[in-house]
Amino acid sequence: MNEEDWNQGVPCDMHEEPWCSPCRPGKFAGYPTTVYITQGWSNKFHISLECTALASGQAAVQRNGGTLAPVVAVSIAKAQEGATQACPMP
Ligand SMILES: [Zn+2]
Ligand SMILES: [Zn+2]
Repeated sequence: MNEEDWNQGVPCDMHEEPWCSPCRPGKFAGYPTTVYITQGWSNKFHISLECTALASGQAAVQRNGGTLAPVVAVSIAKAQEGATQACPMP
């Protein structure tokens, strides 16, 4: 099945479940089950806490005297609920 089928609630082959998250095709395929988001201001999720974009984002907030938003671990399914995109950095 493709992403369009999935979006329409077509049951997956493996579990026969509509909107089955392990079987979701498309842009989130291949990501780990747990990812990291910065609460509050980022619409990106990071696959690692060591992500350079994550670190430099936090550093920029500190430089500007802002309050650091906590970084939280969420499941990939949860990350997908928002308009969340994968961070382009590895
Ligand atoms: Zn499935
Ligand atoms: Zn990142």
